Amino acid sequence: MIKCPNCGGELKYNVQEKVVKCEHCGTKFNPKEKIATTKAASEGTNLEGKVYSCSQCGANLMTFDETAITFCSYCGSQAMIESKMITQNNPDFIIPFEINKEQCIETFKKKINKSIFVPNYMKSDLVVDKFRGIYIPYGVYKLGYNGPKKEKGSKYSHRSGDYEYYNDYSINFDVDAKYEGFSYDLSSKFYDRYSQAIPFDETKKLPFNPNYILGFYADAKDVEGNTYLDNAMDDAAADYKKRILSVKEMARYGCSKPSAIKFDQIEQKTGMFPLYFLAIRSKNQKNINYAIVNGQTGKLVTELPVSYPKYIIGSLILSAIIFLLINSSLILNPQEVCSAAIGFAIIGLIINFIQAISLSNRETHSDDEGLQSVKKDSKIKANVTSIVSILISFISALLPVLVLAKNPAEDLYFYGAAIGSLGLVLLNFYNIIKKHNELVSTKLPQLEKRGGDESA
Ligand SMILES: [Zn+2]
Ligand SMILES: [Zn+2]
Repeated sequence: MIKCPNCGGELKYNVQEKVVKCEHCGTKFNPKEKIATTKAASEGTNLEGKVYSCSQCGANLMTFDETAITFCSYCGSQAMIESKMITQNNPDFIIPFEINKEQCIETFKKKINKSIFVPNYMKSDLVVDKFRGIYIPYGVYKLGYNGPKKEKGSKYSHRSGDYEYYNDYSINFDVDAKYEGFSYDLSSKFYDRYSQAIPFDETKKLPFNPNYILGFYADAKDVEGNTYLDNAMDDAAADYKKRILSVKEMARYGCSKPSAIKFDQIEQKTGMFPLYFLAIRSKNQKNINYAIVNGQTGKLVTELPVSYPKYIIGSLILSAIIFLLINSSLILNPQEVCSAAIGFAIIGLIINFIQAISLSNRETHSDDEGLQSVKKDSKIKANVTSIVSILISFISALLPVLVLAKNPAEDLYFYGAAIGSLGLVLLNFYNIIKKHNELVSTKLPQLEKRGGDESA
């Protein structure tokens, strides 16, 4: 613990008051200034902290005081191994927490209380209390280009006999482009699909000072700073192209494909950005659902599973209502019942296809470059259960189609096909929920060797 110079009590950064405050005597300190017992950012270029490694998922969390880390915020494991002090390069910037833990929990509870199909265990206070404030390392990029550029344009002029005449133009102009605010997380444990959903307001970043971290954790960075430089350049280049095309001279002189911009000013820095992390383990301890709150903006990202008992009760109530409505207002003939079954079967088939694609993307992490940069052995796996459920939904659609085509005299065949088809549709929707729950959760990791330095 970092001790108060006055009384020896514990110092923590206070989010509401934006000061470092003594838990014991209440003395406040300006976080931008050096406190007698803390290290000032300007004192060295290194950030020193004690690292706790998770023996289940391999995450490395740092503390800067004496607080022991008793569980892993990324996987919920309690097998945290305290290792020695480590030093990392001082980050350049920090965005301090602006939301406190109580506000974070309130945001999450509001969301979860609205979601009626969420399993009850996710709502327990014991679970929700495990939100922890963590500073995550981000790569912060600044790009610029200053200089002349030249484009070619061509415009139709007139026709003479068999010839079409075009005027060619050479467009010369000066570009002064500056891009700031492109940042990407440098932690492989923090999936990009989450970080992209809760962006930061970078205009509020401050020069780094370790005082802001007192009372919080930090993630030890494990993705190289330049991993996302290409992404930043692509994003900036795409924006440049859009802006150039919106200049009306480009259309006037017939330039629709401006050449790519090559940024000549590239600045790559690192920042510590604040997040609240909660990893909720499923009852069978096999999966994790994440809830992550942006510590600056308060925006929440979470992917919630559906509880099977709640789903079954919900479907039964809905079926009863539909049954009553049909019975009281309209009478369907056997052909119409068959057609309705085809409709349900096709909806199931479409959802199956969409899920199969997302599942395959998820398993290969094809949407996360940071993770891929530390984990090079991801392979594409054919998902057998996806194929089976697509087959089931295909049969459920085919069955009533065949009966309709054959058009037998007995009504019984139509009803039989419709009931058979709807039975398969129900089975299919059960599979869909199972896969939804897989999609919104992460398999509990077994410690994987993380390539590179660790094995060396
Ligand atoms: Zn004190
Ligand atoms: Zn862990």
